[in-house]
Amino acid sequence: MAQASPAPNPSAAGAHQGVIHQLRNVSFSYDDGGVLAVDNLSLNFVGGESVAIVGPSGCGKSTLLALLAGFANPTAGEIVHTPAPAGRHPMTMVFQNETLLPWLNVVDNIKLFFRYNKGAESKSTIEARVRDLIALAGLGGFERFYPHQLSGGMRKRVAFLTSVAPLPRTLLLDEPFSSLDEPTRVGLHEDVLKIVRQYNMTMVLVTHDIAEAVTLADRVVILTKRPAQIADERVISVSKEEPVLEMRRDPVFLEVYADLWDSLARQIEPAGVRAPSPEVAK
Ligand code: ADP
Repeated sequence: MAQASPAPNPSAAGAHQGVIHQLRNVSFSYDDGGVLAVDNLSLNFVGGESVAIVGPSGCGKSTLLALLAGFANPTAGEIVHTPAPAGRHPMTMVFQNETLLPWLNVVDNIKLFFRYNKGAESKSTIEARVRDLIALAGLGGFERFYPHQLSGGMRKRVAFLTSVAPLPRTLLLDEPFSSLDEPTRVGLHEDVLKIVRQYNMTMVLVTHDIAEAVTLADRVVILTKRPAQIADERVISVSKEEPVLEMRRDPVFLEVYADLWDSLARQIEPAGVRAPSPEVAK
């Protein structure tokens, strides 16, 4: 059963429950101040939660993720991370565009990180984890296949696993499934939920797909149009044990979906955009 409730300031509430990433009054400009993308934004991320960031196109979602990843530095404010526990890589990212190397097979793509990062883990531990991940993602039997021999959904699964294999504490995803058809995307959602739970990862997902946000996240943050500020937040309590299609037929899922769409529509011009039904609920 899905449940949703307004979350006036869940970030502040999380301050006493293990905040691991904290954006404090963060602003960011491109072009020497010519384009203000993020404006005085404060947001906390609690260890183990999944947060979806949604907002109008061009509002600053990817910029926010790049700041969180450390690819760019705030022009004002600061971002504070607690140290990752021993044995966990601090953070990895799944990108929108495929990042697989065409000359490596499935297993070697998934293990690529370890070629360049010699950690404390033994080869056998890494290989066992890669085997488990391949099984969890339903890729058993395709270990020696090359990217061009796989379907789009399978390539996305492999790309996802390349970012999971290093065992990050936090997994960032930047619209990773937007190019997929809806049934394939739902299959990916099942795998993401399973794997994120099994490996106890924190997830921060940028998406323009509200159904995806409600399906995958414990909390959805809606951003204003550029420059990004927080327009709205909802805590979403969905039994992630349920199959995704059942979750999406739940009346409470549909209610929060419509509610978030209304909230997003208020940020999109012209006003009055109406929420479509989630594909799978038709
Ligand atoms: P979103 O992910 O929400 O679509 P982005 O974070 O990619 O938005 O971009 C936010 C704003 O910053 C947009 O107006 C975009 O045009 C601008 N922008 C993004 N990258 C650059 C860049 N490298 N140089 C200048 N402006 C940029």
